[in-house]
Amino acid sequence: MPYRRHIPAPRYRVLAVSDKVEPRLYGPSVTKIARDVDFIVGCGDLPYYYLEYIVSMLNKPLYYVHGNHDRPEHRSNRTIIKEPQGGINLHARVMAIDGLLAMGLEGSHRYNRNTSYQYTQTEMWGIIVKMMPALLTNRILFGRYVDVLITHSPPFGIHDAADRPHIGFKSFLSFMRWFKPRYLLHGHQHVYRDTEITRSRYAQTEIINVYPWRLLDLEFPAASAPP
Ligand SMILES: [Zn+2]
Repeated sequence: MPYRRHIPAPRYRVLAVSDKVEPRLYGPSVTKIARDVDFIVGCGDLPYYYLEYIVSMLNKPLYYVHGNHDRPEHRSNRTIIKEPQGGINLHARVMAIDGLLAMGLEGSHRYNRNTSYQYTQTEMWGIIVKMMPALLTNRILFGRYVDVLITHSPPFGIHDAADRPHIGFKSFLSFMRWFKPRYLLHGHQHVYRDTEITRSRYAQTEIINVYPWRLLDLEFPAASAPP
């Protein structure tokens, strides 16, 4: 029988951000807008100073993945940082956040010779295959593989586009069928019209494009808890 540890809470309130600096969040009003969040999710392509500002104002943990445009940042004290300070990089890692099993997959579909945070379809498959032992261990110990998958890119055919940088990953579709996360949060695909679809369902997963920011309630009915 699975351990009863890491049972998800009924609800997690999350501030999810990606791709564009939102002035209302990059100022004191962030504490009003997102005052009761449990944690912050970064879906990539954001300046590290912006993520660090939100973390320092809310005093809540940040879990993030890199986007294809992420680059080292030069600070005024002549240091160069490659990650937002105080955040936890979830790429190719499964971890428990207050009972919630979360995993991340960074980057976009490869479209040029720059190798950072770009992957071919096959390379993304390779990363997922390496994650399988950890996911299977979760299933044995906690009765489920993963609750939330945090990515930069959308899955293939869902919220993606036909041009090379914006083609989604086919492996994410298999991931959702096999490992049944309740949520997949992504960015990368900019939204310019209200009519664009930003929430979809595939297998047992709700897929949400968080661009440029969203306050989300991730809900886990008691029935989804392991026996
Ligand atoms: Zn991107």
